[in-house]
Amino acid sequence: MQYYSLNRQSPTVDFRAATIAGQAPDGGLYFPETIPQFSAEFLKALPLLSRADIAYTVMQPYVGDTIPEAELRRICAETVNFEFPLVPVTEQIGALELFHGPTLAFKDVGARFMSRCLGYFSQGETKAVTVLVATSGDTGGAVAHGFLGVPGVEVVILYPSGKVSPLQELQLTTLGQNITALEIAGNFDDCQRLVKQTFLDEELTRQRTLTSANSINVARWLPQQLYYLFAMQQWQPGAPPVVAVPSGNFGNLCAGLLAHASGLPVGHFIAACNANDAGADYLRSGTFTPKAAIATISNAMDVGHPSNFIRILELFKHEHATISQLLSGYTVSDADTSATIRRIDAERGYLLDPHGAVAFFALENYLQEYPAAAGFLLATAHPVKFPEVVEPLIGRKIELPAALHYLLEQPKQRVPLPPHYEALRNWLLPQ
Ligand SMILES: *Cc1c(COP(=O)(O)O)cnc(C)c1O
Repeated sequence: MQYYSLNRQSPTVDFRAATIAGQAPDGGLYFPETIPQFSAEFLKALPLLSRADIAYTVMQPYVGDTIPEAELRRICAETVNFEFPLVPVTEQIGALELFHGPTLAFKDVGARFMSRCLGYFSQGETKAVTVLVATSGDTGGAVAHGFLGVPGVEVVILYPSGKVSPLQELQLTTLGQNITALEIAGNFDDCQRLVKQTFLDEELTRQRTLTSANSINVARWLPQQLYYLFAMQQWQPGAPPVVAVPSGNFGNLCAGLLAHASGLPVGHFIAACNANDAGADYLRSGTFTPKAAIATISNAMDVGHPSNFIRILELFKHEHATISQLLSGYTVSDADTSATIRRIDAERGYLLDPHGAVAFFALENYLQEYPAAAGFLLATAHPVKFPEVVEPLIGRKIELPAALHYLLEQPKQRVPLPPHYEALRNWLLPQ
């Protein structure tokens, strides 16, 4: 498989080069030249296949010959070695729980896959690779965890000061070893802009081998397709589901659309946004206008300028009419998100996190128009990651899973920086 730059000013590259570079030299995102097709036998056999085998079958065409089969099988098996249950919540709505990985959010899958690929690619390299990543909350912890102790890889995480939850901050700042957290006095868009600017800095990239672990990196973006396949393994036969995806940078949703383009039978997709709804706005109006990010209670989706949206446009050849047949956009307020968490807990005994609640509300609204349809939302994080939002709504404490108790005892280590490129540059340049 070859990948081309969406800015079309850089040569095509293979999976290895695209993973190491993160973003093309012309500043564009990489996109696969062809969309592999799932065979009818594969789709029919889904319920019987192991997750590791599904992961290998889906990822192999994208990886091509850059990783030998035995190695890729090992990487795939390790990436998906936890559960992805599709839990019924109402008669019409299920929740695909993507938070059973080590950092309790769906980003574990992409981060685990990418870190293992990069670990493989950096074997035999003399220069350390620096993974630079901006996080709105969950990416940082997942990436840090995925890369912890990987030889030859340094990880630098930029997070917006005061805008991630206390548990998220602990997951970013307590690991030590090859992981450094930079606390940026700004918002997520500032962090993302700083990362982009670093990649365009030729002097700096000559001195440090840099790569990005944001969902713009194909090795993080592409394995997110697997959620949708694991869901379809568990989907009861019947009409194809409506799938609601809580969206920030639109990487997860775009991966789902890619799986659909490969033949996965999904009936309709919903881009569920909080007040940061540039993507939902495009779906409604046909015009895409990035906005300044607004803080909400679903903070991992506080993205004003979603970087993966351009990939969705590419997948549909920029045809708004075609996109909007398959994909609807919803904007969900914090008030509706909170009310949904409280109501579904009280009426159904199911506890949503703020991100899943945004998707639940959007899906419920969509299904009111299509009462014969059914679907599921992607529950992207465990509610315990957002106790300050969820606990007051339900009036009780959420238990921290035992596996995370150790975090509370660790000292936080981070480097505070202003949201200016010069400051980051000085910090990154070798003294
Ligand atoms: C990152 C994140 C999202 C948004 O995913 P995108 O791929 O950026 O659209 C949604 N929910 C949670 C919990 C997240 O961490």
